[in-house]
Amino acid sequence: MRWLLLLAALWGSESWSRSEPLTPLKEANYLSLPDSHDIDQYLFSLAADNKQARMVALGHSAGGRPLYGLLISASPAFLQHYQPDTDKATVLVLAAQHGNEPAGAEAVQQLASEFVAGRHLALLERLNLVLVAMANPDGRDLARRHNANNDNTNIDYVAMNAGETRLLVNALNTFDPDLVYDAHESGIWKRVLTRQQGWLTDVEVQFEAGNNPNIDARLQDYTSGFLLPALIKQVNETGLRAERYRGEITSLEQRVARGGLGITNLRNYAAMQGRVSVLVESRLDNKGGDYVTPRNIAERVSKQYLALFSLLQLAAEDSERLITVSRQARQHWQAAGSGRMLSMDVHFARNEAQPEVSIPLVRQADGQRRYHVFANHDAIIAREPVSLPPAYAITRERERMARWLQRHHIRFTTVRAPQVVHAGYIRITDVIPQPRVKPGVREKWRVQADTQAGVATLGPGDLLVPMDQPLGPLAALMLDPRSANALYQEEGWHWLMPGHFPVFPVSPDGEF
Ligand SMILES: [Zn+2]
Repeated sequence: MRWLLLLAALWGSESWSRSEPLTPLKEANYLSLPDSHDIDQYLFSLAADNKQARMVALGHSAGGRPLYGLLISASPAFLQHYQPDTDKATVLVLAAQHGNEPAGAEAVQQLASEFVAGRHLALLERLNLVLVAMANPDGRDLARRHNANNDNTNIDYVAMNAGETRLLVNALNTFDPDLVYDAHESGIWKRVLTRQQGWLTDVEVQFEAGNNPNIDARLQDYTSGFLLPALIKQVNETGLRAERYRGEITSLEQRVARGGLGITNLRNYAAMQGRVSVLVESRLDNKGGDYVTPRNIAERVSKQYLALFSLLQLAAEDSERLITVSRQARQHWQAAGSGRMLSMDVHFARNEAQPEVSIPLVRQADGQRRYHVFANHDAIIAREPVSLPPAYAITRERERMARWLQRHHIRFTTVRAPQVVHAGYIRITDVIPQPRVKPGVREKWRVQADTQAGVATLGPGDLLVPMDQPLGPLAALMLDPRSANALYQEEGWHWLMPGHFPVFPVSPDGEF
Protein backbone atom coordinates (compact mmCIF):
# COMPACT_ATOMS: atom_id res chain seq x y z
CA MET A 1 0.00 0.00 0.00
CA ARG A 2 2.36 2.62 -1.31
CA TRP A 3 -0.22 5.40 -1.05
CA LEU A 4 -0.69 4.79 2.66
CA LEU A 5 3.05 5.14 3.22
CA LEU A 6 3.02 8.37 1.24
CA LEU A 7 0.18 9.68 3.38
CA ALA A 8 1.99 8.71 6.54
CA ALA A 9 4.96 10.69 5.25
CA LEU A 10 2.74 13.69 4.48
CA TRP A 11 1.06 13.62 7.86
CA GLY A 12 4.23 12.79 9.74
CA SER A 13 6.22 15.61 8.17
CA GLU A 14 7.93 17.94 10.66
CA SER A 15 7.83 20.90 8.32
CA TRP A 16 4.80 22.73 9.70
CA SER A 17 4.86 25.42 12.31
CA ARG A 18 2.13 24.28 14.71
CA SER A 19 0.78 20.81 15.31
CA GLU A 20 -2.81 20.45 14.16
CA PRO A 21 -5.51 19.54 16.70
CA LEU A 22 -6.82 16.01 16.24
CA THR A 23 -10.12 15.72 14.41
CA PRO A 24 -13.00 14.35 16.52
CA LEU A 25 -12.77 11.09 14.58
CA LYS A 26 -9.07 10.65 15.41
CA GLU A 27 -9.75 11.75 18.97
CA ALA A 28 -12.24 8.88 19.19
CA ASN A 29 -9.60 6.52 17.78
CA TYR A 30 -11.78 6.01 14.67
CA LEU A 31 -14.26 4.08 16.84
CA SER A 32 -17.22 6.44 16.38
CA LEU A 33 -18.18 9.08 13.85
CA PRO A 34 -18.65 12.58 15.29
CA ASP A 35 -22.12 14.05 14.87
CA SER A 36 -22.78 17.31 13.04
CA HIS A 37 -22.60 19.38 16.24
CA ASP A 38 -19.17 17.96 17.15
CA ILE A 39 -17.90 18.70 13.65
CA ASP A 40 -19.22 22.28 13.77
CA GLN A 41 -17.59 22.82 17.17
CA TYR A 42 -14.32 21.46 15.90
CA LEU A 43 -14.31 23.68 12.82
CA PHE A 44 -15.24 26.73 14.94
CA SER A 45 -12.33 25.95 17.24
CA LEU A 46 -10.00 25.80 14.23
CA ALA A 47 -11.23 29.14 12.90
CA ALA A 48 -11.08 30.91 16.27
CA ASP A 49 -8.14 33.32 16.48
CA ASN A 50 -6.94 32.32 13.04
CA LYS A 51 -6.47 35.19 10.61
CA GLN A 52 -6.79 32.93 7.57
CA ALA A 53 -10.02 31.14 8.49
CA ARG A 54 -13.61 32.09 9.05
CA MET A 55 -16.81 30.11 9.62
CA VAL A 56 -19.81 31.39 7.66
CA ALA A 57 -23.39 30.26 8.40
CA LEU A 58 -25.18 29.13 5.24
CA GLY A 59 -28.59 28.37 6.79
CA HIS A 60 -30.40 25.39 8.30
CA SER A 61 -31.30 21.88 7.19
CA ALA A 62 -34.80 20.41 7.04
CA GLY A 63 -34.16 18.97 10.52
CA GLY A 64 -33.09 22.40 11.86
CA ARG A 65 -29.33 21.73 11.88
CA PRO A 66 -26.97 24.54 10.81
CA LEU A 67 -24.87 24.33 7.64
CA TYR A 68 -21.54 26.16 7.53
CA GLY A 69 -18.85 27.03 5.09
CA LEU A 70 -15.30 27.28 6.44
CA LEU A 71 -13.40 29.90 4.45
CA ILE A 72 -9.64 29.51 4.33
CA SER A 73 -7.76 32.26 2.56
CA ALA A 74 -4.74 34.53 2.79
CA SER A 75 -6.86 37.40 1.39
CA PRO A 76 -8.71 39.52 4.00
CA ALA A 77 -11.05 40.86 1.26
CA PHE A 78 -12.10 37.32 0.41
CA LEU A 79 -12.55 36.31 4.06
CA GLN A 80 -14.59 39.40 4.93
CA HIS A 81 -16.46 40.24 1.73
CA TYR A 82 -16.07 37.10 -0.42
CA GLN A 83 -14.35 39.28 -2.96
CA PRO A 84 -12.66 37.12 -5.59
CA ASP A 85 -8.95 37.59 -6.28
CA THR A 86 -7.75 38.08 -9.82
CA ASP A 87 -4.83 35.73 -9.19
CA LYS A 88 -6.45 33.11 -6.95
CA ALA A 89 -8.94 30.48 -7.94
CA THR A 90 -11.95 30.19 -5.64
CA VAL A 91 -12.60 26.53 -4.81
CA LEU A 92 -15.86 25.29 -3.27
CA VAL A 93 -15.64 21.83 -1.70
CA LEU A 94 -18.90 20.07 -0.79
CA ALA A 95 -18.69 16.87 1.19
CA ALA A 96 -21.25 14.31 2.29
CA GLN A 97 -24.36 15.42 0.42
CA HIS A 98 -25.23 11.80 1.13
CA GLY A 99 -25.26 11.28 4.88
CA ASN A 100 -24.27 7.62 4.57
CA GLU A 101 -21.05 8.56 2.73
CA PRO A 102 -19.17 10.20 5.61
CA ALA A 103 -15.49 9.93 4.64
CA GLY A 104 -15.40 13.15 2.60
CA ALA A 105 -16.54 15.22 5.59
CA GLU A 106 -13.76 13.67 7.68
CA ALA A 107 -11.13 14.37 5.03
CA VAL A 108 -12.22 18.02 4.88
CA GLN A 109 -11.77 18.36 8.66
CA GLN A 110 -8.31 16.81 8.43
CA LEU A 111 -7.29 19.18 5.66
CA ALA A 112 -8.80 22.20 7.45
CA SER A 113 -6.81 21.37 10.59
CA GLU A 114 -3.59 21.28 8.55
CA PHE A 115 -4.30 24.64 6.91
CA VAL A 116 -4.95 26.40 10.20
CA ALA A 117 -1.80 24.83 11.63
CA GLY A 118 0.09 26.69 8.94
CA ARG A 119 0.70 23.87 6.51
CA HIS A 120 0.18 23.99 2.71
CA LEU A 121 0.80 27.76 2.70
CA ALA A 122 1.86 27.62 -0.95
CA LEU A 123 -1.68 26.52 -1.87
CA LEU A 124 -3.12 29.67 -0.29
CA GLU A 125 -0.98 31.81 -2.58
CA ARG A 126 -3.08 30.46 -5.47
CA LEU A 127 -6.40 29.40 -3.95
CA ASN A 128 -9.26 30.75 -1.83
CA LEU A 129 -11.16 27.89 -0.22
CA VAL A 130 -14.78 27.44 0.84
CA LEU A 131 -15.10 24.11 2.64
CA VAL A 132 -18.59 22.78 3.30
CA ALA A 133 -17.62 19.76 5.38
CA MET A 134 -21.21 18.66 5.81
CA ALA A 135 -23.64 19.48 3.06
CA ASN A 136 -26.27 17.28 4.74
CA PRO A 137 -25.98 17.39 8.56
CA ASP A 138 -29.38 15.65 8.98
CA GLY A 139 -28.02 12.68 7.04
CA ARG A 140 -24.95 12.48 9.28
CA ASP A 141 -26.90 12.61 12.56
CA LEU A 142 -29.73 10.32 11.45
CA ALA A 143 -27.30 7.89 9.74
CA ARG A 144 -29.18 8.04 6.48
CA ARG A 145 -28.60 9.05 2.88
CA HIS A 146 -31.14 11.89 2.65
CA ASN A 147 -32.10 14.83 4.87
CA ALA A 148 -34.70 14.78 7.66
CA ASN A 149 -37.39 15.42 5.05
CA ASN A 150 -36.14 12.51 2.92
CA ASP A 151 -35.00 14.85 0.11
CA ASN A 152 -32.02 13.78 -1.99
CA THR A 153 -30.19 17.04 -2.67
CA ASN A 154 -27.91 15.19 -5.09
CA ILE A 155 -30.67 15.07 -7.75
CA ASP A 156 -32.50 18.23 -6.71
CA TYR A 157 -30.61 20.97 -8.56
CA VAL A 158 -33.32 21.57 -11.17
CA ALA A 159 -36.44 21.25 -8.99
CA MET A 160 -34.78 22.77 -5.88
CA ASN A 161 -37.28 21.29 -3.47
CA ALA A 162 -34.93 20.83 -0.52
CA GLY A 163 -33.86 23.75 1.62
CA GLU A 164 -30.31 22.36 1.62
CA THR A 165 -30.13 22.49 -2.18
CA ARG A 166 -31.19 26.15 -2.05
CA LEU A 167 -28.47 26.91 0.50
CA LEU A 168 -25.86 25.23 -1.67
CA VAL A 169 -27.04 27.09 -4.78
CA ASN A 170 -26.92 30.31 -2.73
CA ALA A 171 -23.33 29.40 -1.86
CA LEU A 172 -22.50 29.09 -5.58
CA ASN A 173 -24.00 32.53 -6.09
CA THR A 174 -22.30 34.11 -3.06
CA PHE A 175 -18.79 32.72 -3.42
CA ASP A 176 -18.80 32.44 -7.23
CA PRO A 177 -16.31 29.51 -7.26
CA ASP A 178 -14.08 28.79 -10.24
CA LEU A 179 -13.83 25.14 -9.21
CA VAL A 180 -16.48 23.00 -7.51
CA TYR A 181 -15.68 19.63 -5.94
CA ASP A 182 -18.42 17.21 -4.90
CA ALA A 183 -17.24 14.37 -2.62
CA HIS A 184 -19.07 11.04 -2.44
CA GLU A 185 -18.42 7.43 -1.53
CA SER A 186 -19.64 4.54 -3.60
CA GLY A 187 -20.88 1.37 -1.90
CA ILE A 188 -19.36 -1.84 -3.27
CA TRP A 189 -22.32 -3.98 -2.10
CA LYS A 190 -25.31 -3.88 -4.48
CA ARG A 191 -28.71 -5.48 -4.07
CA VAL A 192 -28.82 -7.40 -7.38
CA LEU A 193 -25.14 -7.61 -8.25
CA THR A 194 -24.09 -8.78 -4.79
CA ARG A 195 -27.05 -10.45 -3.08
CA GLN A 196 -28.47 -12.17 -6.14
CA GLN A 197 -25.41 -12.56 -8.38
CA GLY A 198 -22.60 -12.79 -5.86
CA TRP A 199 -20.29 -9.99 -7.04
CA LEU A 200 -18.96 -6.79 -5.47
CA THR A 201 -17.88 -3.76 -7.44
CA ASP A 202 -14.16 -3.02 -7.31
CA VAL A 203 -13.55 0.71 -7.25
CA GLU A 204 -10.92 2.60 -5.28
CA VAL A 205 -11.30 6.19 -6.45
CA GLN A 206 -13.27 7.39 -9.47
CA PHE A 207 -13.48 10.93 -10.82
CA GLU A 208 -15.95 12.56 -13.17
CA ALA A 209 -16.30 16.08 -14.53
CA GLY A 210 -19.22 18.12 -15.80
CA ASN A 211 -20.11 16.24 -19.01
CA ASN A 212 -23.36 17.69 -20.33
CA PRO A 213 -22.55 18.66 -23.94
CA ASN A 214 -24.12 22.10 -23.44
CA ILE A 215 -21.37 23.14 -21.04
CA ASP A 216 -19.13 25.92 -22.39
CA ALA A 217 -16.85 24.16 -24.91
CA ARG A 218 -13.54 25.56 -23.66
CA LEU A 219 -14.44 24.81 -20.07
CA GLN A 220 -15.27 21.24 -21.03
CA ASP A 221 -12.04 20.85 -23.04
CA TYR A 222 -10.04 22.07 -20.07
CA THR A 223 -11.78 19.86 -17.52
CA SER A 224 -12.11 16.64 -19.52
CA GLY A 225 -9.00 17.11 -21.63
CA PHE A 226 -6.57 18.28 -18.97
CA LEU A 227 -7.70 18.48 -15.35
CA LEU A 228 -9.47 15.12 -15.05
CA PRO A 229 -6.69 13.04 -16.72
CA ALA A 230 -4.04 14.93 -14.71
CA LEU A 231 -5.90 14.26 -11.48
CA ILE A 232 -6.32 10.56 -12.25
CA LYS A 233 -2.62 10.30 -13.16
CA GLN A 234 -1.51 12.10 -10.00
CA VAL A 235 -3.60 9.90 -7.70
CA ASN A 236 -2.46 6.77 -9.55
CA GLU A 237 1.16 7.78 -9.07
CA THR A 238 0.68 7.55 -5.31
CA GLY A 239 -0.27 3.90 -5.83
CA LEU A 240 -3.99 4.41 -5.21
CA ARG A 241 -6.00 3.15 -8.19
CA ALA A 242 -7.94 6.02 -9.76
CA GLU A 243 -10.02 6.04 -12.94
CA ARG A 244 -12.83 7.78 -14.82
CA TYR A 245 -16.22 7.20 -13.23
CA ARG A 246 -18.22 4.46 -14.95
CA GLY A 247 -21.54 5.17 -13.25
CA GLU A 248 -23.08 2.74 -10.82
CA ILE A 249 -22.83 -0.96 -11.63
CA THR A 250 -25.78 -2.77 -10.06
CA SER A 251 -26.09 -5.95 -12.15
CA LEU A 252 -24.01 -8.15 -14.48
CA GLU A 253 -26.40 -7.61 -17.41
CA GLN A 254 -26.53 -3.82 -17.41
CA ARG A 255 -24.98 -1.37 -19.84
CA VAL A 256 -22.27 0.92 -18.52
CA ALA A 257 -21.77 4.59 -19.35
CA ARG A 258 -20.28 7.47 -17.34
CA GLY A 259 -21.59 9.85 -14.72
CA GLY A 260 -25.06 11.07 -15.71
CA LEU A 261 -25.43 13.91 -18.21
CA GLY A 262 -28.35 15.57 -16.42
CA ILE A 263 -28.14 18.96 -14.73
CA THR A 264 -30.08 17.74 -11.69
CA ASN A 265 -26.71 16.98 -10.04
CA LEU A 266 -24.30 19.59 -8.70
CA ARG A 267 -21.50 18.54 -11.08
CA ASN A 268 -23.38 19.45 -14.26
CA TYR A 269 -25.42 22.25 -12.69
CA ALA A 270 -22.28 24.08 -11.58
CA ALA A 271 -20.56 23.42 -14.92
CA MET A 272 -23.57 24.86 -16.80
CA GLN A 273 -23.04 27.99 -14.69
CA GLY A 274 -19.52 28.17 -16.10
CA ARG A 275 -17.51 26.51 -13.33
CA VAL A 276 -14.94 23.74 -13.54
CA SER A 277 -16.52 20.89 -11.63
CA VAL A 278 -15.26 17.53 -10.43
CA LEU A 279 -16.98 14.62 -8.68
CA VAL A 280 -15.16 12.02 -6.61
CA GLU A 281 -16.60 8.62 -5.73
CA SER A 282 -14.34 6.58 -3.47
CA ARG A 283 -14.79 3.05 -2.22
CA LEU A 284 -17.33 2.61 0.59
CA ASP A 285 -16.31 -0.75 2.00
CA ASN A 286 -18.76 -3.48 2.79
CA LYS A 287 -20.24 -3.65 6.30
CA GLY A 288 -19.27 -7.25 6.88
CA GLY A 289 -15.56 -6.98 6.06
CA ASP A 290 -12.59 -7.40 8.38
CA TYR A 291 -10.84 -4.04 8.84
CA VAL A 292 -8.45 -2.33 11.25
CA THR A 293 -11.03 0.41 11.97
CA PRO A 294 -14.85 0.15 11.87
CA ARG A 295 -15.92 -0.37 8.28
CA ASN A 296 -12.43 0.66 7.24
CA ILE A 297 -13.14 4.33 8.02
CA ALA A 298 -9.48 5.35 8.53
CA GLU A 299 -8.48 4.10 5.10
CA ARG A 300 -11.62 5.55 3.48
CA VAL A 301 -10.83 8.99 4.93
CA SER A 302 -7.26 8.67 3.64
CA LYS A 303 -8.53 8.02 0.12
CA GLN A 304 -10.82 11.02 0.25
CA TYR A 305 -8.01 13.14 1.65
CA LEU A 306 -5.62 12.10 -1.10
CA ALA A 307 -8.21 12.77 -3.82
CA LEU A 308 -9.04 16.23 -2.47
CA PHE A 309 -5.45 17.21 -1.73
CA SER A 310 -4.33 16.09 -5.22
CA LEU A 311 -7.03 18.22 -6.81
CA LEU A 312 -6.06 21.29 -4.76
CA GLN A 313 -2.41 20.80 -5.70
CA LEU A 314 -3.28 20.63 -9.39
CA ALA A 315 -5.64 23.59 -9.14
CA ALA A 316 -2.91 25.66 -7.47
CA GLU A 317 -0.25 24.64 -9.99
CA ASP A 318 -2.53 25.50 -12.90
CA SER A 319 -4.49 28.31 -11.25
CA GLU A 320 -3.84 30.86 -13.98
CA ARG A 321 -5.42 28.73 -16.70
CA LEU A 322 -8.17 27.49 -14.39
CA ILE A 323 -9.18 31.07 -13.53
CA THR A 324 -9.10 32.20 -17.15
CA VAL A 325 -11.13 29.31 -18.52
CA SER A 326 -13.68 29.36 -15.73
CA ARG A 327 -14.23 33.14 -15.62
CA GLN A 328 -14.40 33.36 -19.42
CA ALA A 329 -17.10 30.67 -19.38
CA ARG A 330 -19.11 32.78 -16.92
CA GLN A 331 -18.72 35.84 -19.16
CA HIS A 332 -19.36 33.90 -22.37
CA TRP A 333 -22.98 35.07 -22.60
CA GLN A 334 -21.80 38.65 -23.22
CA ALA A 335 -19.87 37.64 -26.31
CA ALA A 336 -22.21 34.94 -27.63
CA GLY A 337 -25.50 36.45 -26.50
CA SER A 338 -28.57 34.96 -28.10
CA GLY A 339 -27.79 32.74 -31.05
CA ARG A 340 -25.74 30.28 -28.99
CA MET A 341 -26.80 26.76 -29.91
CA LEU A 342 -28.03 24.35 -27.25
CA SER A 343 -28.75 20.64 -27.71
CA MET A 344 -32.12 19.80 -26.22
CA ASP A 345 -31.83 16.02 -26.60
CA VAL A 346 -28.82 14.72 -24.69
CA HIS A 347 -28.28 11.06 -23.89
CA PHE A 348 -25.81 8.18 -23.80
CA ALA A 349 -25.70 5.68 -26.66
CA ARG A 350 -23.72 2.62 -27.63
CA ASN A 351 -20.08 3.44 -28.31
CA GLU A 352 -19.59 2.01 -31.82
CA ALA A 353 -15.81 2.38 -31.68
CA GLN A 354 -15.63 0.42 -28.42
CA PRO A 355 -18.91 -1.50 -28.01
CA GLU A 356 -17.74 -3.48 -24.97
CA VAL A 357 -15.59 -2.84 -21.92
CA SER A 358 -14.07 -5.21 -19.36
CA ILE A 359 -14.53 -4.10 -15.77
CA PRO A 360 -13.12 -5.91 -12.74
CA LEU A 361 -15.49 -7.26 -10.09
CA VAL A 362 -14.75 -9.22 -6.93
CA ARG A 363 -16.50 -12.51 -6.16
CA GLN A 364 -18.08 -12.24 -2.74
CA ALA A 365 -17.61 -15.93 -1.91
CA ASP A 366 -13.81 -16.05 -2.22
CA GLY A 367 -12.63 -12.51 -2.96
CA GLN A 368 -11.37 -13.47 -6.41
CA ARG A 369 -11.05 -10.52 -8.81
CA ARG A 370 -12.33 -11.15 -12.31
CA TYR A 371 -13.07 -9.09 -15.40
CA HIS A 372 -16.63 -8.94 -16.72
CA VAL A 373 -17.67 -7.68 -20.12
CA PHE A 374 -20.32 -4.97 -20.23
CA ALA A 375 -22.02 -3.27 -23.19
CA ASN A 376 -20.44 0.16 -23.43
CA HIS A 377 -22.94 3.00 -23.82
CA ASP A 378 -20.68 5.92 -23.04
CA ALA A 379 -21.07 7.73 -26.38
CA ILE A 380 -22.64 11.14 -25.73
CA ILE A 381 -25.36 12.07 -28.20
CA ALA A 382 -26.36 15.72 -28.51
CA ARG A 383 -29.31 16.36 -30.83
CA GLU A 384 -32.15 18.78 -31.51
CA PRO A 385 -30.13 21.96 -31.67
CA VAL A 386 -32.04 25.07 -30.66
CA SER A 387 -30.73 28.60 -30.97
CA LEU A 388 -30.81 30.48 -27.66
CA PRO A 389 -33.67 32.99 -28.07
CA PRO A 390 -33.59 36.55 -26.68
CA ALA A 391 -35.98 35.51 -23.87
CA TYR A 392 -38.54 32.97 -22.66
CA ALA A 393 -42.06 33.98 -21.68
CA ILE A 394 -43.81 32.18 -18.82
CA THR A 395 -47.61 32.29 -18.79
CA ARG A 396 -48.61 29.57 -16.31
CA GLU A 397 -48.31 29.30 -12.47
CA ARG A 398 -46.36 32.53 -12.63
CA GLU A 399 -45.93 33.15 -8.90
CA ARG A 400 -44.65 29.65 -8.35
CA MET A 401 -42.33 30.04 -11.33
CA ALA A 402 -41.09 33.40 -10.01
CA ARG A 403 -40.14 31.75 -6.70
CA TRP A 404 -38.40 28.94 -8.56
CA LEU A 405 -36.41 31.40 -10.71
CA GLN A 406 -35.36 33.32 -7.60
CA ARG A 407 -34.06 30.15 -6.00
CA HIS A 408 -31.79 29.67 -9.01
CA HIS A 409 -30.76 33.36 -9.00
CA ILE A 410 -32.07 33.63 -12.57
CA ARG A 411 -32.98 37.21 -13.49
CA PHE A 412 -36.50 37.87 -14.85
CA THR A 413 -39.04 40.69 -15.21
CA THR A 414 -42.77 40.69 -14.56
CA VAL A 415 -44.99 42.12 -17.29
CA ARG A 416 -46.99 45.08 -15.89
CA ALA A 417 -49.15 46.13 -18.88
CA PRO A 418 -50.17 44.11 -21.98
CA GLN A 419 -47.12 43.69 -24.21
CA VAL A 420 -46.99 42.44 -27.81
CA VAL A 421 -43.99 40.25 -28.59
CA HIS A 422 -42.75 38.02 -31.39
CA ALA A 423 -43.24 34.45 -30.22
CA GLY A 424 -41.75 31.10 -31.18
CA TYR A 425 -44.64 28.94 -30.02
CA ILE A 426 -43.83 25.36 -29.10
CA ARG A 427 -46.62 22.90 -29.94
CA ILE A 428 -46.16 19.51 -28.31
CA THR A 429 -47.37 16.76 -30.63
CA ASP A 430 -46.43 13.72 -28.55
CA VAL A 431 -45.11 12.81 -25.11
CA ILE A 432 -43.35 9.44 -25.05
CA PRO A 433 -42.39 7.75 -21.76
CA GLN A 434 -38.75 6.63 -21.79
CA PRO A 435 -37.78 3.16 -20.63
CA ARG A 436 -36.03 3.32 -17.26
CA VAL A 437 -32.35 2.50 -17.55
CA LYS A 438 -32.23 0.94 -14.10
CA PRO A 439 -34.44 0.63 -11.03
CA GLY A 440 -34.65 3.67 -8.81
CA VAL A 441 -34.13 6.11 -11.67
CA ARG A 442 -37.00 8.52 -12.13
CA GLU A 443 -39.39 8.34 -15.06
CA LYS A 444 -38.54 10.53 -18.04
CA TRP A 445 -40.51 11.68 -21.05
CA ARG A 446 -39.40 12.46 -24.55
CA VAL A 447 -41.24 15.31 -26.19
CA GLN A 448 -42.03 15.68 -29.88
CA ALA A 449 -42.84 19.24 -30.80
CA ASP A 450 -42.96 21.68 -33.67
CA THR A 451 -42.55 25.42 -33.56
CA GLN A 452 -44.65 28.17 -35.05
CA ALA A 453 -43.67 31.81 -35.36
CA GLY A 454 -46.37 34.28 -34.37
CA VAL A 455 -47.26 37.27 -32.29
CA ALA A 456 -48.25 36.95 -28.64
CA THR A 457 -49.77 39.44 -26.25
CA LEU A 458 -48.34 38.95 -22.78
CA GLY A 459 -50.60 39.97 -19.93
CA PRO A 460 -49.89 41.52 -16.54
CA GLY A 461 -48.17 38.99 -14.29
CA ASP A 462 -46.55 37.03 -17.13
CA LEU A 463 -42.80 36.59 -16.70
CA LEU A 464 -39.99 37.35 -19.14
CA VAL A 465 -36.66 35.60 -18.63
CA PRO A 466 -33.94 37.28 -20.72
CA MET A 467 -31.21 34.98 -22.00
CA ASP A 468 -28.54 37.72 -22.01
CA GLN A 469 -27.49 36.89 -18.45
CA PRO A 470 -24.81 34.56 -17.07
CA LEU A 471 -27.38 31.88 -16.24
CA GLY A 472 -29.14 32.17 -19.65
CA PRO A 473 -28.11 28.79 -21.12
CA LEU A 474 -28.79 26.98 -17.82
CA ALA A 475 -32.23 28.64 -17.62
CA ALA A 476 -33.05 27.65 -21.22
CA LEU A 477 -32.23 23.97 -20.55
CA MET A 478 -34.60 23.99 -17.58
CA LEU A 479 -37.40 26.10 -19.13
CA ASP A 480 -37.64 24.72 -22.67
CA PRO A 481 -40.07 21.76 -22.74
CA ARG A 482 -38.02 20.10 -25.52
CA SER A 483 -35.02 19.81 -23.19
CA ALA A 484 -34.08 16.43 -21.69
CA ASN A 485 -33.41 18.36 -18.46
CA ALA A 486 -36.57 20.48 -18.40
CA LEU A 487 -38.17 21.37 -15.08
CA TYR A 488 -41.29 19.55 -16.31
CA GLN A 489 -39.45 16.22 -15.99
CA GLU A 490 -39.49 16.77 -12.22
CA GLU A 491 -41.99 15.59 -9.62
CA GLY A 492 -44.84 18.07 -9.23
CA TRP A 493 -44.21 19.81 -12.57
CA HIS A 494 -46.12 17.56 -14.96
CA TRP A 495 -46.95 20.15 -17.60
CA LEU A 496 -45.99 18.06 -20.64
CA MET A 497 -49.05 17.27 -22.77
CA PRO A 498 -50.05 17.78 -26.41
CA GLY A 499 -50.85 21.37 -27.36
CA HIS A 500 -49.25 24.80 -27.11
CA PHE A 501 -46.80 24.99 -24.22
CA PRO A 502 -47.19 27.85 -21.71
CA VAL A 503 -43.44 28.62 -21.71
CA PHE A 504 -42.01 29.69 -25.08
CA PRO A 505 -39.23 31.69 -26.75
CA VAL A 506 -39.97 35.34 -27.40
CA SER A 507 -38.28 38.35 -28.87
CA PRO A 508 -39.65 41.42 -27.06
CA ASP A 509 -38.37 43.93 -29.59
CA GLY A 510 -37.84 42.26 -32.96
CA GLU A 511 -37.52 39.13 -35.03
CA PHE A 512 -35.67 36.01 -34.03
ZN1 LIG B 1 -23.32 9.89 -2.99
